[in-house]
Amino acid sequence: MKKISVYFISIFILFASMTLISCENEQEEQEILDYAIVLHGGAGVISRDMPDDLREQYEASLSNALELGKSMLEDGADGLDVVIAVIKVLEDDPLFNAGKGAVMTNEGTFELDASIMDGRNLAAGAVAGVRTVKNPIVLARHVMDDSRHVLFAGEGAERFADMMKAERVEPDWFHTDRRAEQLRRAHERDEVSLSEQNLNNFDMGTVGVAVLDKNGNLSAGTSTGGMTNKRFGRVGDSPIIGAGTYANNATCAISSTGRGEEFIRHAVAHQISAIMEYTNASLQEAAEIVIHQKLQPGDGGIIGVSRTGEIAMVFNSPGMYRGAADSEGRFEIKIWD
Ligand code: ASP
Repeated sequence: MKKISVYFISIFILFASMTLISCENEQEEQEILDYAIVLHGGAGVISRDMPDDLREQYEASLSNALELGKSMLEDGADGLDVVIAVIKVLEDDPLFNAGKGAVMTNEGTFELDASIMDGRNLAAGAVAGVRTVKNPIVLARHVMDDSRHVLFAGEGAERFADMMKAERVEPDWFHTDRRAEQLRRAHERDEVSLSEQNLNNFDMGTVGVAVLDKNGNLSAGTSTGGMTNKRFGRVGDSPIIGAGTYANNATCAISSTGRGEEFIRHAVAHQISAIMEYTNASLQEAAEIVIHQKLQPGDGGIIGVSRTGEIAMVFNSPGMYRGAADSEGRFEIKIWD
């Protein structure tokens, strides 16, 4: 009799736990969005006194870029193609500190950094310190697709650009008067800066995109001119896989913006992914730990998307240009909290 009741109790427990697991799975499946995209245009002290017309220009540029990415995803495009297309648009836009409109080095030149990562297989490509490549993100993708390496820097990256027939420009093509003025002020104060605090309120603008596509693939990319008044050969986090960019289909895709040295020290993008992988933390929770507990206030922020389509935009600076859209109809552009 006793044996029979133990038998029935065990069957009951087994059945109950199977039902529970299948409910949980169903819930998880239901929560996976078809696609999601999130982008940033830099973080820092963005003054709320910004003239309305300038704010509108930023919002329009971010909105156009987001719309492009969203419609490509809606049409079933591969996430990496979306990352490239959206970042190219932002690189060509002089408002942002990437491609045309990049900030100037200490010597008044331009040294651009970019990276891209594929969450399917952890393939990645990056370039650092390029001077004549119109769209560094395109060259970063060539590094990923057409070389055995992950990161090319300086002269070598330029030679690789020759081989790949990447579109080139005269260095002066990146010039904007606004960045020249920022460099003048940085020289005056002998500062290396995202430029926000003591130089100008409107001059951050690294760009980055993270995407979940309809095939469930995560990808991310980042592009920047770096920091105003940076010294020869300085490389920030943007082309460093694990710091400025990271993507892993098991967890999330991330792009960072802010004081590059801090993002490198804390391996910010990878650390967020690792927290998700090793604990049950959501993307939002993992990003908050790293941005608010590891970094210092004012260092910057991240945008990211998880494998379920959860979007996070977490920053510890007063503002971050950003936008998010997904298959559930979300479409938003924000600058401040
Ligand atoms: N993270 C970039 C760098 O340090 C700058 C930025 O995000 O604005 O090069």
